[in-house]
Amino acid sequence: MERFSKDGRLIIPLGKRKKGTKDIDEKKVRYVVTEVYCPNGCNIIDKEHEINSAPGLRIKFKRPGMEGEFVLSAIQDDFDKIILSGKLENGVKDELYCPHCGVMFKKLVNCSCKSDADMVVIGLTPMLDFNNAISFCNVTGCTNGTTIKSGDVIRHMQLWGAV
Ligand SMILES: [Zn+2]
Ligand SMILES: [Zn+2]
Repeated sequence: MERFSKDGRLIIPLGKRKKGTKDIDEKKVRYVVTEVYCPNGCNIIDKEHEINSAPGLRIKFKRPGMEGEFVLSAIQDDFDKIILSGKLENGVKDELYCPHCGVMFKKLVNCSCKSDADMVVIGLTPMLDFNNAISFCNVTGCTNGTTIKSGDVIRHMQLWGAV
């Protein structure tokens, strides 16, 4: 399952996609976020790191004894990541921060996968608007995530078998 991105970094598919979901259908339209902001308004889209043909979301992570950065896929229901530094551990929670200004991303609710897991919310507009945001769990390997759709900032694109 291991593979490399264009610049040779390892892409690790951390979560198995849920069986029977639409993402198996290559012709199905999936949503890609193209503008994503930290609570202070930094755009965290990282054009230098594409995952499955879309620039990813650059995120800094910290937990006791470890910190680093990863790039998360901008494609809805795709949990592929490129690890830039540090190590993620399956089933372990990390606190997530903006890689530019260091502010912590907001949390919406607890995720059901673990008692201390949080659903982190990341805005699609420079001013955080919970109705215009994406949300995913901060435990590595948990595939709970939702994209709150908005016509302006989420464009859809067809993936011709790019995954
Ligand atoms: Zn920031
Ligand atoms: Zn979770």
